[in-house]
Amino acid sequence: MKPFIAANWKLHKLPSELGMWVEELKTALKSVDMERLELALCAPYTHLPALRQALEGSPIKLGAQDVSAHAEGAYTGEVAAPMLKDLGVYYVIVGHSERRAHHHEDDALVRAKVAAVHEAGLVPILCVGETLAEREAGQAEAVVLRQLGAALEGVTLEADTLVVAYEPVWAIGTGKTATDEDAQAMCRTVRGKLKELTPAAGDVRILYGGSMKGSNAAGLLAQPDISGGLIGSASLSAASLVEIAAAC
Ligand code: PEP
Repeated sequence: MKPFIAANWKLHKLPSELGMWVEELKTALKSVDMERLELALCAPYTHLPALRQALEGSPIKLGAQDVSAHAEGAYTGEVAAPMLKDLGVYYVIVGHSERRAHHHEDDALVRAKVAAVHEAGLVPILCVGETLAEREAGQAEAVVLRQLGAALEGVTLEADTLVVAYEPVWAIGTGKTATDEDAQAMCRTVRGKLKELTPAAGDVRILYGGSMKGSNAAGLLAQPDISGGLIGSASLSAASLVEIAAAC
């Protein structure tokens, strides 16, 4: 499987800015062999049609940052996985720590969202990770394994229908990054658990996320169980996103 870099723009940018931004990205990517890696942009829902248009003819895939657990119905304000599919979305971030923390997403809801994404034929980028308090209490591994097991319960796993992102919460948007060794150790643990759930999941791509940038990407991406990165802040600038892509 190719290394995978996924940008998480969070609540940033305007749809009207995207055409120019994507042109900038395409120009900067000319220095990168795009055969070697996969790149996706996970944008707010409102941006998806304009982004799809701007990305036409490019290998860059379209991603969303969340999804409803329901396929349709009386759920005002929600956006369903089949709607995302219809817009050309390929990846959907599920269970990001900001959604767990600020929108009360628990393991059961994350699991329902993973199922909804699969049902629509899309690929979830399932986020797991411990808080600083959990790490300091020696619970990091237990928390990650609990989140993983809960989200994937009853899910048929295959290497190309799931991406897992290990994102220590204390590293997200803080400028603090896990050491290469700590990130590798947790990603190895995640891979072990996936294999235990089903041998077919041994090749699932496991991303590291948490203040990854050009200056620290190479070390993290060189780890044997880290297959790419989920990038927040550094993905807002085309130049810094390309710097990370070049490190793959
Ligand atoms: C994220 O939001 O998934 C993330 C990794 O953010 P940042 O790169 O800003 O830490």
